[in-house]
Amino acid sequence: MKLVPFKEKIYLSSPTMHGDEFTYMEEAYKTNWMSTVGANIDAIELSVEEKIGCKHAVGLSCGTSAIHLAVKLAGVKAGERVFCSDLTFAASVNPVVYEGGIPIFIDSERETWNMDPQALKKAFKLYSDVKVVIVANLYGTPAKLDEIREICDCHNAILIEDAAESFGATYKGKQTGSFGQYNIISFNGNKIITGSSGGMFLTDDEEAAVKVKKWSTQSRENAPWYQHEELGYNYRMSNVIAGVVRGQLTYLEEHIEKKKAIYMKYKEAFKDLPVTMNPYTNDCEPNFWLSCMLIDESAMCKQIRTENNVTYESNNGKTCPSIILETLDKYNAEGRPIWKPMHMQPIYAGNEFVSVNEDVGADIFERGLCLPSDIKMTEEEQDKIIEMIKSCF
Ligand SMILES: *Cc1c(COP(=O)(O)O)cnc(C)c1O
Repeated sequence: MKLVPFKEKIYLSSPTMHGDEFTYMEEAYKTNWMSTVGANIDAIELSVEEKIGCKHAVGLSCGTSAIHLAVKLAGVKAGERVFCSDLTFAASVNPVVYEGGIPIFIDSERETWNMDPQALKKAFKLYSDVKVVIVANLYGTPAKLDEIREICDCHNAILIEDAAESFGATYKGKQTGSFGQYNIISFNGNKIITGSSGGMFLTDDEEAAVKVKKWSTQSRENAPWYQHEELGYNYRMSNVIAGVVRGQLTYLEEHIEKKKAIYMKYKEAFKDLPVTMNPYTNDCEPNFWLSCMLIDESAMCKQIRTENNVTYESNNGKTCPSIILETLDKYNAEGRPIWKPMHMQPIYAGNEFVSVNEDVGADIFERGLCLPSDIKMTEEEQDKIIEMIKSCF
C-alpha cells in the first residue's frame, strides 16, 4: 500500500453530530429558553439518571466544575491531603487545589492503567487521616472500582469517581459514574458524546444534589432579593448546550460500538507487532473512548523528553511514541501522547507520589500513545493508519 497524506485530517476524537442536536437547540431558541433553565436540561438530567442508575444528576458547565463542587461537598479544607489518580488529565486534580487541598498522587496498576489499589492502601498507611479519594477511569476503562471503594470505606473516606472519559462503560454490570458518593461525567468536545461543553454531577444523596444545584447558580437564598449565606458559582449548564447533549444521548451506545470496533481492529492488526493495546479486566466493559498502544520495552529506541521537548535516536526496527506521532502527523492524522502523569508535572513537583515499587505511570507515558480514534474514520482510513504505524517498526 502506497501511503499518501489524508486530504482531510483524521482526528483523535472529534464531535460526531447526528441532526437531533440541532432540533433541540432550535427548540430552545424558538421557545426562548436560552438561559440555564429549560426542557433540555430537565430531559437530560432524567435520561442520565436512568442510564447511570443514580438518583440525582445535575447539569453543569463542565466536568471540571462538577469535580470542583464534589471536592467542596466532600469538605476538603486548606492544607488537607486528597488521594488522586496520577495518570489522568489535570482537570481531575486541579479542583482539589481550588479548595486549598493538597493532591497526593497514587500510581497506576498495569491491568487497567488506573489507580493501583495496592498503592492506595500504602498511601493510607502513610496518611490514615485522609478523607477524600478521586479516582479516574482512564480512556474509558473502569478502574478496579470495587477494591478502591472497599479501601475508601475501610478508612471512612469519600470516593469521588471521575467518569469524564468513561460515560457508558460498565464495571461488573454497573455503569461507571455510580461508584463514588459523588461522581462526574463530561460532555467536552472530544468525549464519547458531547454538548460542545458541559458536564454533570451524579449522586444518590439528595441533599448533596440540592447543594450542588444551589452553589452552581450563585447560591441564592429563598428571599425576595439576592440574599447570600454561602459562596456561589456560575456553574450551571446552559439549556442550549443541554440541547446538544439531548440529541447526542440516544447515540451513546452507537458511539461505543464504533469505538469498540476501532479498538478491536487495531488490536487484531497489531497482534504481530511488539506492542499491546490499553488493557482492561474481564469484569468490565470499557466505552473504548480512545484506543492506545504500549510499545514493548524491547522495541523502544532511545527517547529523551525534557520538560518541553523530545529527541530520539531511531534505529532498525526500534521505535518510540514520538516517531509514531510524527509519522501520523506527516500523513495528516492525529495521535497524542499518554497523559503526562501528574507527579511529573512542574506544577505538582512538590506533591507526594505513592507507588508500590516501580513508577508505572512514568513507564506508560514513556512507551504509550493514543491512536486516532475518531468514529467518523472509515475502515479504509483505519487500514491506512495501521500501515503508517507498521512502517515505524
Ligand atoms: C475531560 C476530563 C475532565 C474535565 O471535563 P471538562 O468537561 O473538560 O471540564 C476531567 N477529568 C478527566 C479525566 C477528563 O478527561
